[in-house]
Amino acid sequence: MSNTVYEWQQAAWQFSRAALARGGHALLLTGARGCGKRDLALALAAAYLCDAPRSDGRACGSCESCRWLAAGSHPDFALIEPLIESDDAEAKASAATRRSSVITVNQIRETCDLLEITAHRDAGKAIVIHPAEALNAAASNALLKSLEEPPPRTVFLLVSHRPALLLPTVRSRCQFVPVRIADPLCAQRWLAANTQCEAPDLMLALAGGAPLAAAAIAADPAWTRRSGFLRALGAPDADPVRIADVYRDLAPAQVLSWLQTWTYDLVQFRFCGRTRYHRDLESIAGGIAQSLHPIAATRLHRDLVALQRHINHPLNARLLVEAMLIAYQRAVARDVTSA
Ligand SMILES: [Zn+2]
Repeated sequence: MSNTVYEWQQAAWQFSRAALARGGHALLLTGARGCGKRDLALALAAAYLCDAPRSDGRACGSCESCRWLAAGSHPDFALIEPLIESDDAEAKASAATRRSSVITVNQIRETCDLLEITAHRDAGKAIVIHPAEALNAAASNALLKSLEEPPPRTVFLLVSHRPALLLPTVRSRCQFVPVRIADPLCAQRWLAANTQCEAPDLMLALAGGAPLAAAAIAADPAWTRRSGFLRALGAPDADPVRIADVYRDLAPAQVLSWLQTWTYDLVQFRFCGRTRYHRDLESIAGGIAQSLHPIAATRLHRDLVALQRHINHPLNARLLVEAMLIAYQRAVARDVTSA
C-alpha cells in the first residue's frame, strides 16, 4: 500500500496529522483530480495504524501493522472504492479496468459491520473512502450514522475531487483538508524525476496542474495522437466524418476529453489571448478563435461537460464520436456577424 507523501502535500500532511492528533475522526481531503490525494489518505491511514511511526510521522514500514497493510490483509483497515465491473480475475488486475461509478450502501454496511467488532490490535481503525462523491444517497446515509457516532479510535478519511456533490450532512461532519499545489516547479521536478515525460510543463498544463494526472497522460499511448487529431480538426477543410474514421480506434472518452479542453482553450484565447491546456497548439487555437462565436463555443463546451456522465457506456462509439465532431464543426464555423 502506498506510503507516499508528495513534496507538494507537506502542508496538507501536517494539517491532517495535527487534526488526527487532536482527536478528529473524519477528514475530507479535497483538490484537483490527479494531485495524489488517495496516496496521501493511504499514508495517513498507515501512519495512524503504525506501531512505531518514524520521526517525521510516517509509517515505519516494518511493524506488524505495516506488514499487514503491505499484504492487503489488515483487519482494522478498509479502502472503499467503486467496485470493479468484472468477474474476470485478469480484468481485475488490469490498470485499465472499468469501475462502477458508485459506492453502494452494501459496501458501507459491510465496513460498518466490521467496525462493530473490537479492533484486532487495540490500536484503532482507519477507513479510506475514494472518491467520496461516488457514495450514492443510501450509502451516504449509512455512512452518516458512523460519522455521527464514530466507534472509538476510528478515523474516516474521505477523498474527493468534487466535494460539492457530497451530502451536506456528510460534509458538515468532516474537517476539510485542501490539497493544493502551491508551487508549479515542485510538480515539474517530480514529473521530470519520476516519468519519461519530455515536456513536463505541457503535460502539467494538459492535466490542469495535477502531477499524477500529467504522468498518466504521458504514459498513455493515445497521447502521441493528440496533436495530429487537433491539427486535423483545426484544418480549414476538416471533415468530421473522415476524422472520426481515421481516429476510430480512440476511445470516445479520449476524444471527449480533448474536445472539452480544446473548446475551453478556444474561448479562453478569444478573451485572454492564450490557451490553458494545449499550449503547444496556441497558434492554431488563435487562428480559430479570431472568428469564433463565443456563445456557440461556450454552449458546446457545456454540452461536452454534460456528456461526460454517459461517455463510458455509449451505444455506438463511432456514431457518438462523429456526432461530437459535427457539433464541434458547427460551433466553430466562421461567425458571420463578425465578418
Ligand atoms: Zn509501522
